[in-house]
Amino acid sequence: MELEKPSKITCSVVAIDHTNMYYTVCSCCERTLFDPNNGGQNPSSSSSSTSQQCKYCTFNNSINPGSKRVFRILMSIATDSEVFSVIMFDRIARVLFGCSADQFFDLTKLHPRAAVDAGRTLEGELLRVTLSKPKNGNAQHLRVVNVVPFSSVFQPVFPTLKQHYRLK
Ligand SMILES: [Zn+2]
Repeated sequence: MELEKPSKITCSVVAIDHTNMYYTVCSCCERTLFDPNNGGQNPSSSSSSTSQQCKYCTFNNSINPGSKRVFRILMSIATDSEVFSVIMFDRIARVLFGCSADQFFDLTKLHPRAAVDAGRTLEGELLRVTLSKPKNGNAQHLRVVNVVPFSSVFQPVFPTLKQHYRLK
């Protein structure tokens, strides 16, 4: 078990990997489920929530609790001295996106460019992030465990894009 102290840095967003932003978990126990769409790259053939079942919950309760998407986003950030990639999971990504992964996925069905536009919206945004070394020693990327946008007028991706697309 590694207990390296999380470190707090100020950085700006260089880009996010908009091709692989989420994965699917069981709505009940949040175990990762197999996702044939590999994160929903192909919104037109969206998998219905009944096509994926959690073996554990189905077995224990003899009902299918369904599935939901959660964010897992690879983001490049720049400090004053270097650029590197970090990974952020659902709780952190929601701060920047202002919505759940399912809500965002629904937006990409209406607007296929939403993922690209989300990256563009966040580019250059100044963030104060707390980074932590992943507990899994094989994980490649530092993990964002806390994020605070620097700008006092920061608006998350979801409301920004909704305005952009003139959705109500
Ligand atoms: Zn489950």
